[in-house]
Order: sequence, then structure tokens, then C-alpha cells
Amino acid sequence: MAKVYDVIVIGSGPSGYTAAIYAARANLSVLMFQGYETGGQLMQTTDVENYPGFEEGILGPDMMEKFEAQARRFGTEMLTEDVTAVDFNQRPFTLTANSGEYRTRAVIISTGASAQWLGLPSETRLKGRGVSACATCDGFFFKKKDVAVVGGGDTAMEEANFLTRYANHVTVIHRRDSLRASKIMQDRAFKNPKISFVWDTEVAEVLGDEEVNGLRLSNLKTGEESTLPVQGLFLAIGHKPNTDLFKGVIDTDKAGYIVPSEFTTTNIPGVFAAGDVTDHRYRQAVTAAGDGCRAAIDVERWLEAQAEAERSTEGNEAGQERRPLRMNRTRNNEKPILTAGKMAELRRESRELRA
Ligand code: NAP
Repeated sequence: MAKVYDVIVIGSGPSGYTAAIYAARANLSVLMFQGYETGGQLMQTTDVENYPGFEEGILGPDMMEKFEAQARRFGTEMLTEDVTAVDFNQRPFTLTANSGEYRTRAVIISTGASAQWLGLPSETRLKGRGVSACATCDGFFFKKKDVAVVGGGDTAMEEANFLTRYANHVTVIHRRDSLRASKIMQDRAFKNPKISFVWDTEVAEVLGDEEVNGLRLSNLKTGEESTLPVQGLFLAIGHKPNTDLFKGVIDTDKAGYIVPSEFTTTNIPGVFAAGDVTDHRYRQAVTAAGDGCRAAIDVERWLEAQAEAERSTEGNEAGQERRPLRMNRTRNNEKPILTAGKMAELRRESRELRA
């Protein structure tokens, strides 16, 4: 019979690797689907200077290599493949990839989110060389430089304001003549003397050979073209959570982010979620890693509670007094789910039965 893993982790960013490290170190059998693009968003980042423990900073890809090595050290099996289908209808769950079907008692979804890009070849060529989608990560490298932010939402205003801590000047380029951002964020940006706005305009090309040195802009109303000399370009045109695989199965919000039912649990008992796939607010490597740790601990406790429940069922079948397992219901009252409180209660009941 095919092996049944204790947990399969889908995704290989900071949350996935951290989940694998914790789960494997807790002696669970762990398989990780790293995906064809292993390492997640950090593979497109240059220096990471705000992850504790690397006082001199570390390149994003080097950091992910270390995460991977640490997860392997504790016995995580890894496949450089995407999961193409999931069946969460019955346990053990079945996950399908090109190489076949894999069975598991629990799943941690850590598929992350992807920044939206303009899709220009010049933008791709200069990624990490002045083009970024994360001001918190890369703003520090633009001290006393001129930079541009594309977008008109809350993220764009937040990033523009944040960048003024370092940059000489920040130009916000927006494709319309009014912002989508909340009033308070707009006001903050309008009041900031280091921020100016270019309206009804799109970036037609990012200029520079080795590094960004300017932008070719196109006015969408007049068709007029102009050049803006900047050394940095920050995209703030939204993120897309990588949840297409779970559409209609796992509860998400309107934007597609997974909504945890409690802690890191989802609406399906045994399926957990961690990292940027659940988080449109913080989106940091360190918060994702923390989340991966939480998910692995939740999985460990959930599996333990399942095993206890199975043992007490066997005890009941052997002639002991039958006691119903009390389970919580999810918000929509459809599927039973074990919470931490219920897990503790189950363990207590099981101990009593055995005594
Ligand atoms: P968003 O609200 O979807 O805004 C994206 C912006 O990018 C829009 O202004 C949009 O223009 C523009 N855009 C999209 N595609 C574009 C393209 N191809 N070319 C040029 N411009 C493009 O995304 P977000 O700002 O990342 O915010 C996401 C969610 O997080 C929102 O609910 C937001 O309120 C929340 N958030 C909250 C805070 C906070 O409260 N502190 C901070 C950040 C984010 P149009 O306006 O023309 O569509």
C-alpha cells in the first residue's frame, strides 16, 4: 500500500520550510512539494537585511538554500514539482502531481502570494537591480536616491510614505486621476513634501543597462511620452494569493486569501495554512516563518488528538462505556473541526477511559 505521510507541505517559501523543519523535528514523516519555482518570492530578492540572525544580511536565494538544508537535515522529503490536484474529501487526503498520487494525514498549505508585475521585459531584466515589489525589503538601498512607486491603492501610499525615510524624492505614478487608497492614506501621502504624483500615466519602459536609471512614461489621456530619471521603481499594484488549486474547497476571502478558521486551521479539519497565502497585511519572511512554525505545531497536536481519538474508539469497541466525541462545528456549521481546547478535552477523556 502507498505510504501515508503524516503531513504534506505545499510550497517552499519561509513558511513552508519552517513548517517542515518543525514537523520533521517532531518526528513526523514530512513530504514537501517545493513547486517548480522553489523558494518563493525571496528568490527574487537581493539582500535580506531584516531577518534576525543574519547581522550582515544575506541574499534571498542563499537564505532559502539554508532553509532547505535545515529542513532536509531533519528528514523532510522534497519534490521539485507542483501539486496539480487535491482531494480533501476523505482522509487520508490524496494529492496529485505529475509523478503520481501521494497520501497524507494532514496538509499545510504555504503556497504564498505573488506580487503583480507590469509585465514589461525591461522590468523583468532589472528586477533586483532597482526594480522591486517590496519597499520594506529594499527601501534601505535607496538612501538619498529618487524613486518611483506605481499604483494608487493603500499599498502604494504606504510604500511611498515608507520610502521617504530613505529616498530623496518619491514619485507616485498612477494610471487614473484619482486614488483607490483610503482617505487617511491619501492624506498622509498628499501632505508628505517628499512625494509627488503623476496622474493618468503608465510606465512604458524601465531604462538602464545594469541598474535602473529612469522610466519612459506614457500619458494615457494624451499619449504624450516623457522620461523620469529615477534609480528605483517599486511596484505596488497588488498581490495575488496562490490559491487557484483550492478554489471552492478551502474558504478564502474575496481577494482569494485563505481565511484561517482558528489558529492555522482551515475549514477542512486536517488542512492547515500558513504564510502569505493567508496574509495580505505583513507579507514578511519572518512573519511567514513564524506562521509555518504555528502550523506545524497545530498539525502535531491535531494528529496527536486524532490518534488519541482512534485509541479511545478501539477501547470502546473492546467493551468500555461508549462516550461521544464532542467536536466543534465550523462557522457555517457544516464540517466538524477540532480546536485546541477540544484536543485537550479529548486527551483528558482518553486518559480517563484508559484509567
Ligand atoms: P489594490 O487596492 O488592489 O490597489 C492596486 C492599485 O494598483 C490600484 O490603484 C490599481 O489601479 C493599480 N493597478 C493594478 N494593476 C495595475 C497595472 N497593471 N498597471 C498600473 N496600475 C495598476 O492593492 P493594494 O494597494 O496592494 O491593497 C490590497 C488590500 O490590502 C486592500 O484591501 C488594501 O486596503 C489593503 N491594505 C491596507 C493597508 C493599510 O490599511 N495600512 C496597507 C496596504 C494594503 P486602479 O485604482 O486604477 O484599479
